[in-house]
Amino acid sequence: DKSAGDAEKVTYKVGTEPTFPPFDTTDEEQNIVGLDMDLIKAIGKDQGFEVTFENLSFDGLVPALKAGNIDIIAAGMNKDDKDRQAQVDFSDAYYESKLMVAVKEDNNTIKSVDDLTKDMKVAAQTGTTGANKTQELQKQGKIKEAVILNGLDTAMLQLINGDVSAVINDKPVTEAYMKKQPDKIKMVGEPLNAENYGFAVKKGNTELVEKINAGLKNIKEDGTFDKLVDEWFNK
Ligand code: GLN
Repeated sequence: DKSAGDAEKVTYKVGTEPTFPPFDTTDEEQNIVGLDMDLIKAIGKDQGFEVTFENLSFDGLVPALKAGNIDIIAAGMNKDDKDRQAQVDFSDAYYESKLMVAVKEDNNTIKSVDDLTKDMKVAAQTGTTGANKTQELQKQGKIKEAVILNGLDTAMLQLINGDVSAVINDKPVTEAYMKKQPDKIKMVGEPLNAENYGFAVKKGNTELVEKINAGLKNIKEDGTFDKLVDEWFNK
């Protein structure tokens, strides 16, 4: 039942790339769902705004925000990235993450990033911190090719099929893929970085970033944040 006030609520378009479980994924009906979606919905409920979700490629998110086609990016996006900070404004951090090297479960030769060799292809998702790292390895001549793909599901499939030797991706997300297909993938070595996820808004949109920060603080204080993290990590 709708109250009279609902009609005046502003609706923000939230962009994401939904092959990034448990943060950004799709349900059986191809609806965009995930921890990021539930967090931004809860923040909106707290701050009096509504959201709709847009499915974009990860490297299309910042351009879409700059062009005004979306209002918010909720996509497990590392807010510590200097290049991104120059283009968008980020909310407070909501999740700590790190990049890891993933290989096939039965691979006994690659035990860390240092075991990658000049004849190997390594996959990552386009526009991500993992892609930057993979391309850096290629530039340094440490691997044969950085295979940059649109969806992370494709990257994981290529790993399982043996088309690439490794995937460089965010640890909690690779863990979600490991859960979906047990005994196919494992992570090796030490984390390659440390990152903090933030929601992004158009540069200068202080009003919206302040609403997001206030809502984030409130849902942390009232337990909603922890409840949603628990739900999505224990699916
Ligand atoms: N955390 C990584 C980044 O910010 C990957 C995000 C993603 O693939 N959705 O680049």
